[in-house]
Amino acid sequence: MGSLPSDFITKSKSVDTNEFKPLDPEDFREKAHKTIDFIADYYKNIEKYPVLSQVQPGYLRNQLPEAPPDTPESFDTILADVQKDIIPGMTHWLSPNFFAFFPSTVSSAAFVAEMLCTCFNSVGFNWLASPAATELEMVMMDWLAAMLKLPKSFMFSGTGGGVLQSTTSESILCTLVAARDRALNEIGVEHIGKLIVYGSDQTHSTYMKVCKLAGIHPQNIRSIPTSVKDKFSLSPKLLRKVIEADVAEGMVPLYLCSTLGTTSTTAVDPIKELADVAKEYGIWVHVDAAYGGSACICPEYRHFLDGVELVDSLSLSPHKWLLTYLDCCCLWVKNPKLIVNSLCTNPEYLRNKINESDSVVNYKDWQVGTGRRFKSLRLWFILRSYGVKNLQDHIRTDIQMAITFERLVKSDHRFEIVVPRRFSLVCFRLKQFNGFEPSYTELLNKKLLERVNSTGRVYMTHTVVGGIYMLRFAVGATLTEECHVIAAWELIRELADTLVKECYSSITANCI
Ligand SMILES: *Cc1c(COP(=O)(O)O)cnc(C)c1O
Repeated sequence: MGSLPSDFITKSKSVDTNEFKPLDPEDFREKAHKTIDFIADYYKNIEKYPVLSQVQPGYLRNQLPEAPPDTPESFDTILADVQKDIIPGMTHWLSPNFFAFFPSTVSSAAFVAEMLCTCFNSVGFNWLASPAATELEMVMMDWLAAMLKLPKSFMFSGTGGGVLQSTTSESILCTLVAARDRALNEIGVEHIGKLIVYGSDQTHSTYMKVCKLAGIHPQNIRSIPTSVKDKFSLSPKLLRKVIEADVAEGMVPLYLCSTLGTTSTTAVDPIKELADVAKEYGIWVHVDAAYGGSACICPEYRHFLDGVELVDSLSLSPHKWLLTYLDCCCLWVKNPKLIVNSLCTNPEYLRNKINESDSVVNYKDWQVGTGRRFKSLRLWFILRSYGVKNLQDHIRTDIQMAITFERLVKSDHRFEIVVPRRFSLVCFRLKQFNGFEPSYTELLNKKLLERVNSTGRVYMTHTVVGGIYMLRFAVGATLTEECHVIAAWELIRELADTLVKECYSSITANCI
């Protein structure tokens, strides 16, 4: 090798390599300690902020400079700006007064495990890229499967296995693609237009998106209607009817997404009965248990999973109800080989002897992306720090608080529970008053929700099911205690008082 040109050497010498050290351990220690203090104070003071952010669109652009700084700013200034610029634009999901959507639960154990995940920053796409990351994930998936009393056919210690995805969408996508490819192998890729997928009108909206991503023709997605009579769960009889009609047309039934705890009202589809029907037609059955599945770690709710031994895959998001922070969605499959067949890649730069032997799991072949974070640390820390017993208690306490709220609603004759409560979500509304149109009841409830949320003291959301507009009160934010639930009800009741009075005192329906 020849020597480097002299001007190159002079140039590189002029750079002072001592100045900029993005990961200096002592510098890290200082900044991290300050940030931990910031976070602990934030959690301590969280109730001082309006739970629903009150800023207007575009608020932040007006506050920030047009371009990044050329030279460094001090860490203290940056952290101070988080307080000044960012916090006002946050909707505080961890507030004890957050009752919207489904809460996103957290814990100290998961937080510190997340720090360790970030610490290692391992990109564990295959076994050798970090054996611990792959192996802990496999053990955790089996631990959780055991807590849910899943059959061995979903466990690595049996004949199946599990993987941590980011979201339910990815869980459904990976299984749908596996089912699709299995079917196309039989009928030929040119017949992809014959594949039909099934769900109900309560299936999560992501299902549509995922089906499109998987190349299922939009007109081949069957969204089977549910009714109040069936408590908005999917009827096996209706499913059979729809499948039979498709088969009669020469179509090929492919995939059914059933739901344990729908997003609107936590309806539960009858897994066993649905699987019995679907299996007659060779359909891949998936159970989306994103929220409700967590309750099944308690023996008294396990029956919702009855029949799970008949299905092909199950997903559950511990970031919703098992204290794990986003994002963490468990997917269990009976036949991982089918997913690997569809998603396996084998580029030269990732090749090594161990990975190519059949003795290890390479999780890159179980998911959409290649790189993946060491998320199982969170589950390991949670399960060991709290034990199954405390997690069961946590589920039961949330449900108990929802029961308290439900009782309060029932004790007020102006309100009604719209759908029977199953877990920790209460769906309720102001009843239709004598002499008022149904559309007026909807307006009244919309107005009530708007007023409640604009106080910044409580945040709730709504849904429309079976044509009925209703309010959703979802208990379960980690910091929520019974006093918050009672205070929220008091606020709702007071605002309803004013609203109802205003309306009765007005002669026409124009009052709102
Ligand atoms: C929340 C929810 C989803 C989406 O969940 P992610 O795991 O957060 O993507 C899907 N299905 C149901 C039933 C849900 O409640």
